[in-house]
Amino acid sequence: MTRPIRILIVEDEAAIREGLIDVLVFHGYEVDSAAEGPDGLDKALTGRFDLILLDIMLPGLDGYEICERIRAEDRHQPIIMLTAKSSDDDIIHGLKLGADDYVPKPFSIQQLVLRIEAVLRRSQVGLEQARTLSIGDVVIDTENLSGMNGNDEIAFTRREIEVLCYLAENPERPVSREELLSKVWGYAKGLDIETRTVDIHIAKLRRKIETDPKAPENLVTVRGAGYRLMTGSS
Ligand code: CA
Repeated sequence: MTRPIRILIVEDEAAIREGLIDVLVFHGYEVDSAAEGPDGLDKALTGRFDLILLDIMLPGLDGYEICERIRAEDRHQPIIMLTAKSSDDDIIHGLKLGADDYVPKPFSIQQLVLRIEAVLRRSQVGLEQARTLSIGDVVIDTENLSGMNGNDEIAFTRREIEVLCYLAENPERPVSREELLSKVWGYAKGLDIETRTVDIHIAKLRRKIETDPKAPENLVTVRGAGYRLMTGSS
């Protein structure tokens, strides 16, 4: 028997928290929850959850801080942030800190469940077999989510490595943001296309692998077509 998938909800609004618990239990997940930041962080770090749903505004410790602290210890942990609808800054900040995805509030339960399933599907497939990627001067160990640029070590999130691996598997052509969302994030076609999520991840990757992130030579933009990884083995 496979063990149930465990989800942690960190959300201080009781109505949202209780509603999420009901829906996720109904979908067969094992659910734990926290209403305050410190308790949420504590459970996140010790509870071995398959996925964490993380609100931003929380008493005691906010979702950004929690996300950052989780990432400092575990770069594999899937995290979806629950963000206020109209705030781009919230979304960008959360993704920069290493969240895998975000769902804007107010969200439809159906939309949230689809996102949860997409993130879980990806994380359970596992990374492609471990390998070494050479990009420019950077050598990346995909299993350990780390790279070396000379003597400097670079830490990647799992999602960043997945983006690089997917682009590396398609070196001969640009890959569109929609394709990355579908193949790397696992979004089914027909969902809202959240291309900003892709752009933020690309920007983060450029800061890590490019000499000049503003003039990328390895992870390039092909105007109107998408992104392409120049792997040097052309
Ligand atoms: Ca809140």
